[in-house]
Amino acid sequence: MASVAQERPLLMIPGPIEVSPAVQAAFSVPPPGHLAPRVIEAFGRSLGLMRKVWLAAPEAQPFVVPGSGTTAMDMAAWNLVEPGDPVLVVKTGYFSDRMEEMLRRAGARVSSIGSEPGHAPTIEEVASAVDARMPRLLFATHVDTSTGVRVDPEPLARLARERGILSVFDGVCATAGERFEMDAWGADVYFTASQKAIGLPPGLGLLVATPRALEARDRRRAAPPPMALDFAEWLPIMRAYEAGRPAYFATPATNLILALETGLAEILHGGMAARFALHARAAAAMRDAWSSLGLEEVPAREELRANTLSALWYPEGVGADLIPRIAARGVVVAGGLHTAIRERYFRVGHMGYAATVPAMLRRTAESVGEALLEAGHPGKAPSPEIWTRLLA
Ligand SMILES: *Cc1c(COP(=O)(O)O)cnc(C)c1O
Repeated sequence: MASVAQERPLLMIPGPIEVSPAVQAAFSVPPPGHLAPRVIEAFGRSLGLMRKVWLAAPEAQPFVVPGSGTTAMDMAAWNLVEPGDPVLVVKTGYFSDRMEEMLRRAGARVSSIGSEPGHAPTIEEVASAVDARMPRLLFATHVDTSTGVRVDPEPLARLARERGILSVFDGVCATAGERFEMDAWGADVYFTASQKAIGLPPGLGLLVATPRALEARDRRRAAPPPMALDFAEWLPIMRAYEAGRPAYFATPATNLILALETGLAEILHGGMAARFALHARAAAAMRDAWSSLGLEEVPAREELRANTLSALWYPEGVGADLIPRIAARGVVVAGGLHTAIRERYFRVGHMGYAATVPAMLRRTAESVGEALLEAGHPGKAPSPEIWTRLLA
């Protein structure tokens, strides 16, 4: 009889993702109280480990809050802008549209610089928009999950620093999978969620802010942000946990806090350069497989392709029924998300634990290949050598 574990499909969407056995063991315990010594210890250590994963300065402040990536986005919006503040949003897809709306609801005067799906504005275009519109804050999505487009945050963060404005990056589909050097580049806020490349189940928003970003909240003259999003409410809690003291403002997801320390320690094993290189290698292998199968990617140029997921055009004559055909082979992939092209492409996540297990990547690519064949689009089967190279 097949075991339950074998019947469970492989989760290869851009979040939630497969979690490592150690992470699963860490959260699979009866729920501890939020004042349990083990929770306080894991919480405090996780905050320290976040600075390392974010490559942030010792004075940068990590926040871990119950919620998701959307909570972290709202937290950044409400603490950093005041009603009437001009902000510039670099738009690359679905989630930068969401951030634009959040910043607007927080009272900002939002202007944006956008591009066609699969493209991103150039740094020169962003620089001239900054100089023309003089925003107080620059926002960009590191990896746009709706198109697989990755922007280069380094010149954007450096530009913001030069112009004396704050920079905020949505790393929800990138953090811990794509290179980001918060301190060296001078970025002010970088946030993510537990279920993306951090490698946990959903349930936590994770955000790191520089002292400059905290000052923006301190200087705020308008009414305080919604309480559950307010840096000022959470700051004493984070400081207490990091000092090993119990504290309460809102109940943390205690099981996930235990797993967070485990997950972050796994990411840091071998160092961040190795973690980023691992994702680059996994992505290169997937790309080799896609090209054998005759699939084309949504990002228009090589340097725009994210390492954490692939967004792939359906070939001629193939449509969304490809997804259930892939699912029938025990692999879950995602449909399109960007409204302008939703029906024309699909997405495959390859971040976190799966990026460390060549057999998962191989099974995913081979399932896509078989489903394409069944749908009448035979490609060249990906060479097994693609995956053995990953083991070397
Ligand atoms: C998933 C995602 C979000 C939203 O995160 P939730 O955890 O679903 O709220 C925001 N931005 C990006 C880039 C994402 O990939």
